[in-house]
This record gives sequence, structure tokens and C-alpha cells, in this order.
Amino acid sequence: MTNPSGPARRANEALAERLGVLALSLRVERTTALTPSCQRVRLAGDELADLDPLPGQDLMVSLDGDGERTRRRRYTIRHLDRDAGLVDLDIALHGDGPGMRWASSARPGDAVEAIGPRGKVTLDTAADWHLFIGDDSFAPAALAMAEAVPHGGAVVLALEIDAAGHELPNEIRAVVAGPRWVARDGAAPGDPSGLVAALESIELPPGRGHAYVGGEHAVVARLRDGLGRRGMDPESVSAKSYWRLGQQNAANGEPDRS
Ligand SMILES: Cc1cc2nc3c(=O)[nH]c(=O)nc-3n(C[C@H](O)[C@H](O)[C@H](O)COP(=O)(O)OP(=O)(O)OC[C@H]3O[C@@H](n4cnc5c(N)ncnc54)[C@H](O)[C@@H]3O)c2cc1C
Repeated sequence: MTNPSGPARRANEALAERLGVLALSLRVERTTALTPSCQRVRLAGDELADLDPLPGQDLMVSLDGDGERTRRRRYTIRHLDRDAGLVDLDIALHGDGPGMRWASSARPGDAVEAIGPRGKVTLDTAADWHLFIGDDSFAPAALAMAEAVPHGGAVVLALEIDAAGHELPNEIRAVVAGPRWVARDGAAPGDPSGLVAALESIELPPGRGHAYVGGEHAVVARLRDGLGRRGMDPESVSAKSYWRLGQQNAANGEPDRS
């Protein structure tokens, strides 16, 4: 793990300044298995008092390496308690990368360097309804944004999970429609069939909606195209690729787009 006064912190301070965000020296408070494949990592730190994220924004966590060579991964801010100085990141335990290994081996007291808030995809508050579709890596962003839709608003949810029983806790106040949870039931993460079928089954509500899509690179592209065929214009679709099948994300936490 990183040293709070060491090169990882200095590299994060420089990057954070360039991006206009905060550099945060945090420590692991505790970890909780929300499901067999979703680990909540609760981080603590006084600097969280100054963090002011929009729903759906994320922290970029430094993993192994120091300074320029630091590998980073991005995790959505699932909950933030500014007064208590606590933030929850919910991490899908799939694949075999450094992010997954960090989440499954994190122990209370471990030092963690991060920067944030990051991310351009957040709630379109002028939309009449909000469709969230994607896999379990996108579920924290989807649920954070869906929880920001006020009481009486309309949310359509299609979030892929390993199996029934792996549904994630949430406090959505809006009226929820759609399949909600799409169980892979033995299909591999990154297989588009479940979410593509879920999208076809969804009845889009009347009015101007906004769709938010996240997950595996190729699946996100399929879903974005599917939404276009359903008549949604590109400005009303926020699609973000979170990871790429068979490839490591780049050091900056983003999948390679080539
Ligand atoms: C803006 C943004 C927000 C994100 N928020 C979250 C979040 O809140 N929670 C979360 O879990 N992830 C989130 N991600 C994804 C996360 O940043 C990592 O991509 C993910 O944890 C995989 O990183 P890794 O180091 O474990 O694997 P990598 O080093 O990227 O990949 C190693 C191998 O694992 C495979 N792999 C990676 N991810 C998966 C997966 N989900 N299922 C199956 N195989 C996989 C890859 O194909 C590759 O073969 C977010 C990504 C972005 C860009």
C-alpha cells in the first residue's frame, strides 16, 4: 500500500491539481461482503470533509506502484458521510486485476491514496425518467444516481448480477420499473445477451428520458446502439465503458479504446 507522505501522495497532488480535484490520504475503515461477488470498502479520512461529489461520481484509487508508475482504478462513491469522514466504494469481485485483488485483500488500517471527485456522468435532473442499464461494476453508479431521483420520479432499472440473491441494497425513493435485476445465471461477465434481452423487454416511459449505461466496453456499445434503435437521441444517452473483456484497464483506470 501507499505511504501518505511518499511519492504516491505527491504524484496524486500534482494530478489532482491538474484536474481541479482533491488529493485524499485515506485509510481502510472496514470491508463488508455485500454479496459473494461485491465487496464494500469503507475508507476514512479527515480530507473527506471537503469532498463534494455529484451522484455517480467516483474516486480514482492508487494501487501498486509509486509516483509516475502508479496504477489507478476508479470506483464510484456509493455513500459519503462528510461529517464522519467516511466513504463507501462497492467493488465487483470479477476478473483477476489489481483492483479486484486490492478490494478483496484490503484490511482495516491500510493506507489508500485517492483523488476525486471524478466523472462526467451524473443525473440529468431535467429528464422525465431515468433508465439505468449495465453490469455489476456499474451498479454502484446506477444506484447512487437512482437514489438521487426524488420521490415521485421515474426510474427504470436493469442491473446485471451473478444470480438471484445477489441484489444490492438501495434506498431508491422514485417509482421503479423494468426488470431491476438481471441474473447472469452462469453466463460469463461481459456476455451481452442478458442485458441486450433486458433492454428489448423494457417499455420506455413517455416524455423525455435519459439513459445511463455502464459496464464492459463491447456490451456498453451494444446497449448504446440498442437505445438509438429504440429512438433515444445520443444527447439523452450517457454511456461509459468501465472495463474491457480480456484486457487490463490502462494505468489511468480507463479501458483502452482502440
Ligand atoms: C468511471 C468509472 C467508475 C467505476 N466504478 C466502479 C465501481 O463502483 N465498482 C466496480 O466494481 N468497478 C467500477 N469501475 C471499474 C473499475 O475501475 C475496474 O475497471 C475494475 O475493478 C477492474 O479492475 P481490475 O484492476 O480488477 O482489472 P483489470 O486490470 O482492468 O483487468 C484484469 C482482467 O479482469 C477482467 N475484468 C475486469 N473487470 C471485470 C469484471 N467486472 N468482470 C469480469 N472480468 C473483469 C478484464 O477483462 C481483464 O481480463 C469503474 C470504472 C470507471 C471508468
